[in-house]
This record gives sequence, structure tokens and C-alpha cells, in this order.
Amino acid sequence: MSSQSSGEGGVEGVEQVAGDGENVTEYGRLLGEFEDVCPVCGGPLKVREVEYMLPSLGKTLLVSKKCAKCGYKRTDIVPLSFQRHTRVYLRVEKKEDLYIKVVRSPTARIFIPELGLELRPGLDAEMFVTNVEGVLQLFKDALLRLKTLDEEARVDDMVKLLDSIAEGDFTPFTLILDDVYGVSAVIAGPHSRVAIENAD
Ligand SMILES: [Zn+2]
Repeated sequence: MSSQSSGEGGVEGVEQVAGDGENVTEYGRLLGEFEDVCPVCGGPLKVREVEYMLPSLGKTLLVSKKCAKCGYKRTDIVPLSFQRHTRVYLRVEKKEDLYIKVVRSPTARIFIPELGLELRPGLDAEMFVTNVEGVLQLFKDALLRLKTLDEEARVDDMVKLLDSIAEGDFTPFTLILDDVYGVSAVIAGPHSRVAIENAD
């Protein structure tokens, strides 16, 4: 679901904030304004896109449309906060970094490019809070499962490497959480090296 329609009259409370589309900058940030064709009468449809912070939804895009000819009105609400494809990069440099908390959403893919590791979201994946060490354990579990399924799979060296990382013996690497819904996060301290990127 990428948008929610408010129908003709707009959602209660939202319409109030949006008003007639005038003077919105006081509450929201006007992102754009353009003209489209009214789906009802074919007349000129004024479209405004305004970004708001709404208490219930967080950062939200309101797309309001109004036809000057027939009066057709429609407001679409698109929550941005939980729909933004984000990538979180965490640099893991020392043993203490293994205890940095990681919030992993079921929709997130996890990468460690330096090790060539990638964990895709499983159907059974749940939202959970772990730490970097816990994420390494996820990789290890996945590798061991792979070996159970395929005896030929060469996973021993990687398992050994993950074990030594867990012991604190490693060269720095980057943990990447790639999340189409932007829910995953790293709860890092002031000295942690974290970068967040919008992937859209
Ligand atoms: Zn119209």
C-alpha cells in the first residue's frame, strides 16, 4: 500500500490542516505544485504536494487536488516515514562495536560487502532488536543451515571467520541494512560511524 485515499471530503483532521491548500507553508513544506487534468470533467486540476509532520503517521506527504471547473476535490495521504527505502551503513571497527544495537525489520536485507555476505529477508523473519554480534550469528546460522542442506557447501572458512570476528579479532567491515520500508535502524553511540542513505 503506497497511498490512502481520503475520498472527496478529505480525512477529518487532515483537511483541517491542509485547508484549501492556501497558506500551507505555516504547517507543512510545499514540495511542488502543478496542473493535471480533472478525472471528472477534464478541466484544469490543481495539484499540490505538501510534506507534513503528523503525530500519528510521522513525516507524511499530502497530495491535494482541486478542480477549478467542477469543484472535484481529493486528498491523498502517503506516509513517508515508514515507506522510504533506506540503507543504513554501520562501520564496525573494534570489539565494542559488536555490541551496537541493531533494529532489523523483516523486510531488510543485510550485507557485509567485505565478507561477501548477504542475508535476504526470510518469510519467517520477525522484527527484532539484536546487536552486531547477533547479526553475525544470523549469518553463521544461515551458513550452517546451508551446509545441512548441501554437504558440498564450503562454509567452514566463513564460519571460522565469523567466530574470530565475534572474538574481536577482525579487520574493520561495514554492516549494511537495506530496507525498503525504512524501519531498520542502528542505535549507535556518539562515537559510532553510521550513515543513512535514502535509496529511492
Ligand atoms: Zn473537474
